[in-house]
Amino acid sequence: MFANSDAIILDFIHLKSIEFHRDDEGALVTVGAGVVFRELVEALKAHQGALPVATGPDVGVIGYIVNGGLSGYFSRRLGLLGQRVVQLTMVTAAGEIRVLTPEDALFFAMLGAGSALGVVVDVTIRVESESAIQSAEQRGFSFATREQAVAFARGALRMLRDDVLENDSVSMELVVTGTNALIATVIFYDSFNGSAAEFVQPLEDLAASLNLPVIIESRLGSWYEVAAALWPVIEGITGEPLAMLNHCVGTYGMPDDEILDFVSDTLIAQAPLDQANFSLVEIRTLGGAAMSRAKLPSGNCYHLFFVDLVTMYDTKGKTVGERQEIADLTTRVIDQARDVNGLTVDFSGTHSQPDDVDSSALASIIFGTEAMADHVTGLKKQFDPHNRFRFHPYAKFLGTAG
Ligand SMILES: Cc1cc2nc3c(=O)[nH]c(=O)nc-3n(C[C@H](O)[C@H](O)[C@H](O)COP(=O)(O)OP(=O)(O)OC[C@H]3O[C@@H](n4cnc5c(N)ncnc54)[C@H](O)[C@@H]3O)c2cc1C
Repeated sequence: MFANSDAIILDFIHLKSIEFHRDDEGALVTVGAGVVFRELVEALKAHQGALPVATGPDVGVIGYIVNGGLSGYFSRRLGLLGQRVVQLTMVTAAGEIRVLTPEDALFFAMLGAGSALGVVVDVTIRVESESAIQSAEQRGFSFATREQAVAFARGALRMLRDDVLENDSVSMELVVTGTNALIATVIFYDSFNGSAAEFVQPLEDLAASLNLPVIIESRLGSWYEVAAALWPVIEGITGEPLAMLNHCVGTYGMPDDEILDFVSDTLIAQAPLDQANFSLVEIRTLGGAAMSRAKLPSGNCYHLFFVDLVTMYDTKGKTVGERQEIADLTTRVIDQARDVNGLTVDFSGTHSQPDDVDSSALASIIFGTEAMADHVTGLKKQFDPHNRFRFHPYAKFLGTAG
């Protein structure tokens, strides 16, 4: 551990249990702290279930839940995964084992700020039927110049706002990659009526008008296929070691033209995609069930429009100067976002660097509201007065940085 020679890292690799069971309201799954999404997704497939899972196959299910993890594909229909938790087992800083349900003060706090408050051993999650997701259409186009990527994004972002954010039966994600690809995925939920192919036709027309070659044209016919769609791409992102910087921007309500223009003309135009070629700009629709279900201490359930800039590169072969340049370029983009009216910056426990003491994110933004931030701070003082759990994304806000 580089940060502190006295630190202890807990490895949950052996807590691999995934148990399906039922109550009066339907199917549940209890997941141990060592389970990663690939394992949960495969198990759900065998039970015809669906959940709002992370895109990364090796992301820890509980690490994602305790930091308010969101699914750009599924959260508009299925909520955040934490919003589906009905019970969890945790160990407090005092060594007490507690089984929490929604009646306990700590319960909701654990589902957004949990990594600062205790160790979660298992969670029980309400499972949805796989029929909640009809299908998805994925289109990929390659671009030769950044201007082409910006031009495509300008059009696609209007479609995302006007056709998708207005319609709770669909969601959309647009990813711009450092490998010069634009990947648009539109997910159709069970309430969708109409032709999925016609719905995405404007994206194809837009790409054709810009002469962008088609590299992906696929229909994903089930929740499982959508959940696993990005695994092969993500598996190709490796490094010795891989460097990663996470930031996000978003809006509470409908993004106006100024905000959409900022995302295309500044964020996509200036992101260090060439210097850090595993980088991604991911533009996602939220809201829907993620906004209407129980509020968790996470900015992720307060935002409708969500963009994350994940700067990634293999550090092997990069000089110190090149690494600094990549960090500076990333900071420059995010600093400009702070000046855009109506745009929130670094509000997500899963997509920001809130432990950076020089960044300007506020506790009320990352935990959702001032009241929620006060609530979490109070619980931190009560349940971890000696600050045993200090290597979490909220160190700065809970007065425990450094
Ligand atoms: C390829 C990739 C794809 C991703 N996709 C998404 C996505 O679609 N949506 C999204 O929201 N995020 C996504 N993320 C971000 C991811 O959700 C967060 O980084 C998450 O915190 C990772 O959890 P982990 O357990 O894997 O990591 P770790 O680094 O092990 O843990 C992260 C934090 O959670 C704490 N923690 C972990 N387990 C426990 C536990 N049992 N009890 C208490 N605290 C615990 C740790 O102490 C640490 O503070 C992605 C990340 C990657 C690398």
